[in-house]
Amino acid sequence: MVSKEIVEQIRDALDIADIIGERVKLRRSSRGYHGLCPFHHEDTPSFHVYTDTQSYYCFGCHEAGNVFTFLMKTENVSFPEAVKTLADRAGIELPKYEHPGERSAYDILDLAAKFYAEKLSDSPRVYLERRKLDASDITRYSLGYAPNSWDALVKYLRSQKVSDKQMQELGLAQEGRYGLYDKFRGRVMFPIRDIAGRVIAFGGRLIDGEGAKYLNSSESAIYHKRKNLYLLDRARNAIRERKRSILVEGYMDAIRLHKSGYSEAVASLGTSLTQEQAETLSRFADRCYMCYDSDSAGQNATRQSMFTLQKHGLDVYVVSLPEGKDPDEFLATNPSEAFEESLKKARPLVVYYVDAMRAKVSDPLTHKSAMKELFMTLSELEVYEVLAHKSYLSEATGISPSKIEEWFMSRSKQSAPTDTPAPMEVKGAEHPSEAAMCSLLYHHVECRISLKADAILALMRNPTARLVALALVMENVDSQYLLWTQLNETEKLAVLARGDEICARMKGLSMAEKFRSTYITLCDRNKARRIRELTAKLQKSEATPEELSELMRLKR
Ligand SMILES: [Zn+2]
Repeated sequence: MVSKEIVEQIRDALDIADIIGERVKLRRSSRGYHGLCPFHHEDTPSFHVYTDTQSYYCFGCHEAGNVFTFLMKTENVSFPEAVKTLADRAGIELPKYEHPGERSAYDILDLAAKFYAEKLSDSPRVYLERRKLDASDITRYSLGYAPNSWDALVKYLRSQKVSDKQMQELGLAQEGRYGLYDKFRGRVMFPIRDIAGRVIAFGGRLIDGEGAKYLNSSESAIYHKRKNLYLLDRARNAIRERKRSILVEGYMDAIRLHKSGYSEAVASLGTSLTQEQAETLSRFADRCYMCYDSDSAGQNATRQSMFTLQKHGLDVYVVSLPEGKDPDEFLATNPSEAFEESLKKARPLVVYYVDAMRAKVSDPLTHKSAMKELFMTLSELEVYEVLAHKSYLSEATGISPSKIEEWFMSRSKQSAPTDTPAPMEVKGAEHPSEAAMCSLLYHHVECRISLKADAILALMRNPTARLVALALVMENVDSQYLLWTQLNETEKLAVLARGDEICARMKGLSMAEKFRSTYITLCDRNKARRIRELTAKLQKSEATPEELSELMRLKR
């Protein structure tokens, strides 16, 4: 455990705005900065970073915290990991707490990585050079070589006071008839790192001797295959900045893409993508380009994985490279602009899937079952994702676009009770939160500063409440109130009075909390209303492609 003093020392040495600013586009505001919230989707910034208290708060989704929680939540790391990352950043050295005689798992894997790196001489180097990797790549991606000997690593780690038990637990060695021996032998080694950049496992590509072509570390206390993506530690910032990730199958594919300038690439370390990996990717960007191998195993993996990604809210595009090449082969012989061309031509999931089913659909023998499979599979997606490509689906199946739309709409109505018709908005009376907002604006200057006129126009529906709120943020409050009394504008005064009453009922809440909760209620109501509007348009086939994508974003 790191002491409280050190945690405070790290916090004092850094500015939260710098750290958050690297991940969220921030603009200056009165008490610090604000920007679009990284924790929920929004179009107008409600995420605030306060430099005086070194904290953040989102008025939209209530996320709040300090620089450590920010890192933990946005990068999915533990508290000690966040402390370590920020300590490095601040140039503060963390004290090493080690049990005497026992090394930490990270420490041991680091030792193993260094051991493998040192063994990378002549023949393995030739292999890597043949794959067009030079000395700087070998260093950058910490590549190494596990010698084709019985127990070279075991001997080395024993000399470094690592116990046999630890080596086995970390999947570096296994017990055989003649004692402990190295798990990886005769292989080029790719260290697998966690998001904080620490080695947690290895992947080995056989170049000498016998065995499986690829061998990975087994699961351990610190390595969970389901959760990791190869090179994510180097890719996460690029994914965020470029608002897209590129998902590939192999180590070499990911490395080649990084070398060619596509540093948003990660590899899934297995044929099909897990829920956890999809969830992790969705945290960094909404769009994912899948570029798996074009052999049948790769294509099967593509199909499975793309639905996993889409269900986690990602927009999936499937990239097909010419001549059935994988990204590594393709970029070894083509300029990187050629890959960009392939990205541009990538097919959205629905189009890709329809294409993949085309042959079976047009074959009279398989037509019926293929149609069933096609429609049932697509019906698991959000209806607007499918309807965005209804004419394509119509062309491939021979069913008219209106029939297609009818079928998917009726299914979505059965499964989505949320798409109920709009509740009646009572004419004349404002929403309670609108009244409450007017009251808060009238009584507190802090509220007036935080709410801009355009936000009022977007959030308030009732004409009187709108006028009251607008006047309060734009004019002098006291003279405005006086004017309303003198002109006997009872409707406006009544809104304020009802608002006072509602605010008084929010017992035990501070002014700021009342403001936040009122604001959030109005935002949610606004969002729900927009979703209803767009869904109605969609049902009447009047939605434009822009409105479809807006609906997709709102539903996330
Ligand atoms: Zn938020």
